[in-house]
Amino acid sequence: MPRPTRARIHLDNLRHNAAVAAGLAPDSRLMAVVKADGYGHGAESVAAALDDCVAAFAVASLEEAVRLRDCGIRRPILLLEGVFEASELAEAAAIGAWIMQTCEEQLRWLQEATLSQTVTCWLKVDTGMHRLGVAPQRAPAFLQALRDTRNTGTDTVLCTHFSRADELARDETREQLACFLALCDGLGCLRSAANSPAVLAWPETHLDWIRPGYMLYGDSPFREPLPEAAALKPVMTLESKVIGVRDIPAGDAVGYGATWRAARPSRIATVTAGYGDGYPRTADNGTPVLVNGQRVPLVGRVSMDMLTVDVTDIAAVHVGDPVTLWGEGLPVGEVARHASTIGYELVTRMPARVPREVCA
Ligand SMILES: *Cc1c(COP(=O)(O)O)cnc(C)c1O
Repeated sequence: MPRPTRARIHLDNLRHNAAVAAGLAPDSRLMAVVKADGYGHGAESVAAALDDCVAAFAVASLEEAVRLRDCGIRRPILLLEGVFEASELAEAAAIGAWIMQTCEEQLRWLQEATLSQTVTCWLKVDTGMHRLGVAPQRAPAFLQALRDTRNTGTDTVLCTHFSRADELARDETREQLACFLALCDGLGCLRSAANSPAVLAWPETHLDWIRPGYMLYGDSPFREPLPEAAALKPVMTLESKVIGVRDIPAGDAVGYGATWRAARPSRIATVTAGYGDGYPRTADNGTPVLVNGQRVPLVGRVSMDMLTVDVTDIAAVHVGDPVTLWGEGLPVGEVARHASTIGYELVTRMPARVPREVCA
């Protein structure tokens, strides 16, 4: 019997979520962000499942794009950070990747390159995130320089990225959008701004291309419940099993460092999943876990290969009973909040140790 800890990947839910995104932005083209191995879900199976319901894909590096081409993905693939050195341009052009242009160095590399074919560029404009992109006032001249380059197609897309679209009460998204729309005015380019939170909550940002990632994997990027996100279905379910059950007296502690002590006689179930399986060690006492489909609190510190839960209040638990750490019935974002992080990080850092079991 193999170890029962696995990440079940529901590709039907992935396709459903893509349809939700498309339905929220019916006048926009959909670029599915599948960087970081499809947010830890397996980029090849994710891209193959989405291939006929999206217009393009986006990744973080040329290697990620090459991997998708190697498994037969023919749609456009955007390199979200562009190339990291001039020598990558030839291969990027050869595989027909779209290339983000974010700085003067990347422009120079493109101007000086000899390429087998022209490349489609996206021009990233920094409207306030201050991570990547050219200043708004530089954008028109930068665009003209791209248009003057023999290596560039005529179809450059203008692009920006929001820093706080997941915070509904903040003004930054509106301000960044206004800045972006103003600079785009009259330049005659298609425009793209929306990440997942913007797709869900800021319809005025949808423009010509939406670029959702996280929401496709079935969780809301918002803390508060959002009606638009209610239809999303989790793609990854992290599952395991109970491998031990014991009764302990009131006053005894559980696990390394005795970080939890029983206030009453308690029944503790041990699950064979730990931080070596991508479950966060920082998860606090009380983090919800599903045992036999019922919510029980994590108690004691998460170990490398095991964790412990308090099953005193549910019907008898036995060795072999099924456990869900996140996914169906337990949003990964909720678990993440108990570990002072976000669901993005939990799914993205799932280690190779955990088998991905793909359900079509
Ligand atoms: C990762 C990324 C996205 C997707 O963001 P989500 O919040 O996962 O939807 C969109 N655009 C850019 C530039 C990104 O880097």
